[in-house]
Amino acid sequence: MSSIPFDPARLRQVAAEIVTAARELAGLGWTPATSSNFSMRLDADHIAITVSGLDKGRLTEEGVIAVDLDGRPVATALRPSAETVLHTRLYRREPGVGCVLHTHSLVQTVASKLFAPQGAVRLEGYELVKAITGITTHEMALDLPVLPNSQDMAVLADRVDALLDAGPLLGYLIAGHGLYAWGRDLVEARRHLEAFEFMLAGELELRRLQ
Ligand SMILES: [Zn+2]
Repeated sequence: MSSIPFDPARLRQVAAEIVTAARELAGLGWTPATSSNFSMRLDADHIAITVSGLDKGRLTEEGVIAVDLDGRPVATALRPSAETVLHTRLYRREPGVGCVLHTHSLVQTVASKLFAPQGAVRLEGYELVKAITGITTHEMALDLPVLPNSQDMAVLADRVDALLDAGPLLGYLIAGHGLYAWGRDLVEARRHLEAFEFMLAGELELRRLQ
């Protein structure tokens, strides 16, 4: 257990926000079979994250716990998401990140398999690309990386670190698995998640029609 305390009132407030978002995303069908995980920053040393293996459509505030940036649970006997290191590594290296959302929608999963051989999906010509922070015109293209899947989360976290070393990044796909998106707060992270989902659905639909 971490010796540095966190504010329990802040955890309760953040847990309520995560529960609302999780249930809404579950309602869209983006969190099948207890998959997906969500986190928000509590302070410089802690995040709140969903516990392992819960139905996100039935998530309650007890399903959100505090962990330190090494992923160790604080003041709880519950186990955080198996993918916690993919959250904590991001919060540790990017002080501006306040929220990380990870879902497994069908669109995200199919697109991640389709584009895995290229290592990225090029998103361009979409008005919605402007929903991604830093992009100001639909004429800008955005390459959403596709990482090979692994059951070794430290390996995946190293691959994400390498992507971040190469330049700005606000999301990535894992092949056959799902999408990670983040932002300075829940509102921005969710806007990114929804914009990526929409543009990936567009790419799949275009291929269906061509
Ligand atoms: Zn996952």
